[in-house]
Amino acid sequence: MKEQKKERLNVDTILRSIRNNIVKIFPESSLPFKLISLVGLRINAKKHHVPLSTMVMGVYAAQHCNLNCKCCTAFSPIAEKSFLNIESYNNDMAKLAKLTGNRLSSFGVTGGEPLLHPQITEIFTIARNYFPETDIFFMTNGLLLLGMPETFWENIKQNNIAINLSRYPIQINVDKIIEKAKSYNVKFDYVGGGDVPVKLMWKYPLDVDGKQPLKRSYNICTQINRCVTMKDGIIYPCNTIAGIEHFNKYFNKNLKVTAEDVLELHNVKDINEVYEFLYTPKPFCKYCNRRGVEFGIKYGNSKKDITEWT
Ligand code: SF4
Ligand code: SF4
Repeated sequence: MKEQKKERLNVDTILRSIRNNIVKIFPESSLPFKLISLVGLRINAKKHHVPLSTMVMGVYAAQHCNLNCKCCTAFSPIAEKSFLNIESYNNDMAKLAKLTGNRLSSFGVTGGEPLLHPQITEIFTIARNYFPETDIFFMTNGLLLLGMPETFWENIKQNNIAINLSRYPIQINVDKIIEKAKSYNVKFDYVGGGDVPVKLMWKYPLDVDGKQPLKRSYNICTQINRCVTMKDGIIYPCNTIAGIEHFNKYFNKNLKVTAEDVLELHNVKDINEVYEFLYTPKPFCKYCNRRGVEFGIKYGNSKKDITEWT
């Protein structure tokens, strides 16, 4: 498992470095940037379209966020306030541990902003108890990090939880965050790697009429095997399906999630059922206009307009 992970990491590091250097040469609004991004996206998609042999899993600690970024792929600007339910999370993790023999290749606590969850340290402790050897991290915009109590820092140190910081053009003291992480011997990285530029937004448009060829959407989707999400006993293959209820509710739409789009975790008998499920196109893919993806969108506040997601 370690060798496989190492190999994957190396390819990821090389691709990341190429992309980040290209971004420095071409302006984000330029055609070369867009073309290169498109090619990168295809390579990335291909790379992840392989059947899994170890699980990658994530949970949303909070669906809402303390930032309001346009085109947010988690739908946080239009989501109601909601937190991960600790009891059902614990049950799900127990089942997942049983299925996988307590082995996951990585586990991410994301959102929205995960640090908004009042029991965030409990979430980390539960994850570490069930998965002693897994790479566990949380993704954050960093706004709350320096205000977190010492007990939080002790917890992430003890549980070996890594910080993954998204680089938004906001006022936070990154040097101080890095210093603090170092003082607690906590792993720190930026989402997308150390040399990634300050975040630009990407739009993955939805087709509310569901007229996309679903296999094509699936085949060029970069979320396959990467954005697997677990919530209240359900496994979602991607964060689009996991979060679509917020889009539907806010814009009064009806992008349907069917029984084939999700997996009932507590009915699963063998982990291979999960891998097979994740490696199969979903009916919901007809709502994803993956060919219409837009790159290099300047960071800004969401106006909660449907065009940010369509
Ligand atoms: S910080 Fe991330 S989760 Fe929060 S609104 Fe911005 S893009 Fe969405
Ligand atoms: S619905 Fe299909 S195409 Fe869309 S993000 Fe999920 S897996 Fe990818």
